[in-house]
Amino acid sequence: KLADPGVRWVPGFSALGPAFYTSLRPTPLPSPPYWVGWSDAVAREIGMRQDWRSDAVLAALTGQALFEGSAPLATVYSGHQFGVWAGQLGDGRAILLGETDTGWELQLKGAGRTPYSRMGDGRAVLRSSIREFLCSEAVHALGIPTTRALCVTGSDDPVVREEIETAAVVTRAAPSFVRFGHFEHFAAANRVDELRALADYVIDRFYPACRHDARFAHFDGNAYAAFLEAVSERTAALLAQWQSVGFCHGVMNTDNMSILGLTIDYGPFQFLDGFDPRHICNHSDTGGRYAYNQQPNVAYWNLFCLAQALLPLIGDQEIAVAALQSYKTVFPDRYEARMRAKLGLPSPAPDDRALVEGILKLLAQEKVDYTIFWRRLADHKAGGDPAAVRDLFLDRAGIDAWLAAFEERHAQVPAAQAAQSMRRANPKFVLRNHLGQQAIEAAQRKDFSGVATLLELLQSPFEDHAGHEAYAGFPPDWASTIEISCSS
Ligand code: AMP
Ligand code: MG
Ligand code: MG
Repeated sequence: KLADPGVRWVPGFSALGPAFYTSLRPTPLPSPPYWVGWSDAVAREIGMRQDWRSDAVLAALTGQALFEGSAPLATVYSGHQFGVWAGQLGDGRAILLGETDTGWELQLKGAGRTPYSRMGDGRAVLRSSIREFLCSEAVHALGIPTTRALCVTGSDDPVVREEIETAAVVTRAAPSFVRFGHFEHFAAANRVDELRALADYVIDRFYPACRHDARFAHFDGNAYAAFLEAVSERTAALLAQWQSVGFCHGVMNTDNMSILGLTIDYGPFQFLDGFDPRHICNHSDTGGRYAYNQQPNVAYWNLFCLAQALLPLIGDQEIAVAALQSYKTVFPDRYEARMRAKLGLPSPAPDDRALVEGILKLLAQEKVDYTIFWRRLADHKAGGDPAAVRDLFLDRAGIDAWLAAFEERHAQVPAAQAAQSMRRANPKFVLRNHLGQQAIEAAQRKDFSGVATLLELLQSPFEDHAGHEAYAGFPPDWASTIEISCSS
């Protein structure tokens, strides 16, 4: 039976032709599949029917049926994993249903084996699917570019990881799921025609300004160089946002880098609890390549890989290197702007960097909880008790001196205005590992209410949500024992 989601399917990525993908059907989740979590907000953005959560749509989102007009496919890409060329990868468990006439690609993650599955089973477990679903929506609500998640569906089908778990599917949505690795794939094989077709597709659809905008005039009509510069800028802006909210991605391989500068591929990610610049969230990342404080440099390294892939199109190494340089100015600019917003400062001043560095040093010294510190600072600015901030630190002299400098810097800023903007820049709720874990454990017992509650809080993380203080508190001791690896 064919389901009608209320949107039509149009040719998008599939128009590139078979060199870029394999057409195939999802492997059905064994019956009966069920809804685990869903976002009506995403359904609305995609333009789906109000009553989209029908049995027919459930069937289509779990591979039991096909939407009318959808021609599913798995795309091929390659990439660098942990700094090493990994060769061909590809959508090993993600199947693209197609593109809607409203401009969204819908992808089923965990929908079965594909020609790119290698040793994998093509499945995703409930645990990691809930994490991806919740975090996509949490990151979006923080104002950070990301792929979205429409829903998680589950089944009792067993899946073997370190333990036996059950299979789930996340329906992801994004304007495009193209990664740096898609470009690397064709460049490595010296397939310049396909490389150009892919670049032209992405530029025409998502970066049309690269062809004519005056701000790229310095590239003298070289649209591919302009494209590299634009991607570098978007990536820099993304990293500035990650760093400012304390988000660790965990697996910044080049195949997990979106060409649109979106957060993509939620695996062992973590929002920092205590502030530790060297924090490593991925249990498999023994060398700390993807530690929190390494992320901005790794993103640049990944852009360098993209630059190398685009070199045959750009035509000149010096121009390619010049296009990358924007990262080095945009990242610090954006990061400083984000931190200024957290500090409630409407305009820049020369000493702001010292103010930011000063507080980060104090936070790191005692691994003070990052989210709670900033929210308490905002509450303090709104007239709350300064002790709530001071009590977070053993180094009272240190925090008092910093708070004095902070107040001095605020002398010319109206307090009410600062307080309001700080509460919009410093979330009360982030998806901490232990919060996700509690919702996951309930869901494993078929109680999906925890997923729904967390989603609601995370969708408006700057609101107070009275009565939900427990979700905004310090992590329990056991939180630090949660080990999240690449296994998902
Ligand atoms: P990731 O580390 O999640 O970015 O995945 C790296 C590569 O492994 C991608 O090509 C994925 O599609 C593939 N992959 C990960 N898990 C599975 C799985 N369970 N089955 C098939 N392919 C997988
Ligand atoms: Mg991936
Ligand atoms: Mg992944």
